[in-house]
Amino acid sequence: MAPKRAVSGTPSKRTTVTAATKTVPSPSVSSSSSSSGTQATEHQHYEFGGPYLGPLGIMIGLPLISFLYSSYCGGNYRWASLPLIWETIQNVVLQQPSLLWDGIKNAWNTEVFLVYVCYFTLQAIFYLTFPAKKEEGTVLKNNTRLTYPMNGLASLLVTVALIHAIDTFQIFGGKYGWLWIYNHWGQLIMATIVFSFLLSIFLYWYSFQDVTSSSKILAEGSRNVPLYDFFLGRELNPRIINNQLDLKFFCELRPGLVMWLLINIACLCKQHTVNQQVDPWMIFVILFQGYYVLDSVLNEAAILTTMDITTDGFGFMLAFGDLAWVPSVYSLQARYLAEQFSPLVSTNDYLTFAGVVLMGIVGMYIFRSANSQKDLFKRNPNDPAVANLPTIQTKRGTKLLAGGWWGMARHINYFGDWLMAVSWSAATGISTPLTYFYPFYFAILLIHRDGRDEEKCENKYGNSWKEYCKIAKYRIVPYVY
Ligand code: NDP
Repeated sequence: MAPKRAVSGTPSKRTTVTAATKTVPSPSVSSSSSSSGTQATEHQHYEFGGPYLGPLGIMIGLPLISFLYSSYCGGNYRWASLPLIWETIQNVVLQQPSLLWDGIKNAWNTEVFLVYVCYFTLQAIFYLTFPAKKEEGTVLKNNTRLTYPMNGLASLLVTVALIHAIDTFQIFGGKYGWLWIYNHWGQLIMATIVFSFLLSIFLYWYSFQDVTSSSKILAEGSRNVPLYDFFLGRELNPRIINNQLDLKFFCELRPGLVMWLLINIACLCKQHTVNQQVDPWMIFVILFQGYYVLDSVLNEAAILTTMDITTDGFGFMLAFGDLAWVPSVYSLQARYLAEQFSPLVSTNDYLTFAGVVLMGIVGMYIFRSANSQKDLFKRNPNDPAVANLPTIQTKRGTKLLAGGWWGMARHINYFGDWLMAVSWSAATGISTPLTYFYPFYFAILLIHRDGRDEEKCENKYGNSWKEYCKIAKYRIVPYVY
């Protein structure tokens, strides 16, 4: 689930070609992948802990975590220490669960929900109308490729400018500006949770519509088990509005990711409003996370080859991850820092700060250069920057990169990504473990994702993958894992 960033990519659609689709002859597509594509191929196992328990646990547990974080951290609540968290769990969750229900009701605000719906709609309008270079996705089962508009950067910049204009020119009386976002973050997150459930219901229903269309491709993970399919998603590339709005691609990089940045900027404004200045920790988090978001939209085409786009259906897992989980959990550090003000005063502060920044830079360097190296190799293996690196020929006619970053570990890019996550949390100090949830959860996500990708590559590349594993012995962290 969730957001991914920065690689390379492409995907799919109707054979009766629409403006956004184009038929492509593809010898690489197996003949068994029927172009009618309405049936998923048979698979032997269930992911995410089986057909019922795992999905149900995730669908209850993750929204609950998002809600608890957005409603019970900061503001009127303390950023709790471990003993306090345990005490709260015992007193409130176990002994007086009705308090939890009261909290959920308090987090609901119809006006905020409507504002979120307007925001989501505005992002969709930007997606559909802003000038865009078009990129093609990977070849689909029906031998077509979909095209996607690359205008995420413009959407992001215009959104930030609009909110800034609301504040500067007191549009709507200044309501809905940065501090409004900051003051309503709990209710905004509740809106995203409810919205992602509603969207998932729509997606599940939509996957049964127009089933005779050759463009209706089901994800391979689909199993005809309603709960499981609702969770993992049935349809691979649901599109609406005359097939122009690709819901999965749109949600991957637009509403949730942009909202993460908006919440971060709102936190920056809050710290500045209270202290008339901003501390270096906040600047570090805003700049580095801002870079992460910008990098994602600048390299928007990169997600077209990720498994989220090429393999997974669009259901609750991605909808919730993209729309609710990212803005609630990824913004934790900025939200914590908004309520602190910690200028650097001692040598120790300066040294700690330098260490944190260094970790962030190292993580960013590994993340960006590993992803760029593979991207370049896939696009142009003869480019001088990658032409001399060792490779392994596969039975599919393509090559695997077996040197450079990709000779050190098979997902060295995940390591860089995780290092960045740790550095962001380290910027919040050690007074609460709550701000460390992101790297903790991210490690689980990346290890699980690595396992899924290994399985995919083993099936796809067979012995060549085994040969590659002998060269790149480690999965994510060289000499460790
Ligand atoms: P990768 O970018 O690592 O892509 C994996 C794919 O690359 C494989 O399936 C295979 O695809 C190809 N590949 C793997 N090894 C080689 C090789 N040696 N030579 C050539 N091709 C190879 O994975 P993701 O798509 O999962 O992640 C992309 C980025 O997004 C990462 O940096 C990750 O950290 C980030 N991310 C961030 C998340 C977040 O929440 N912040 C969540 C998930 C990811 P093929 O079939 O094309 O050969």
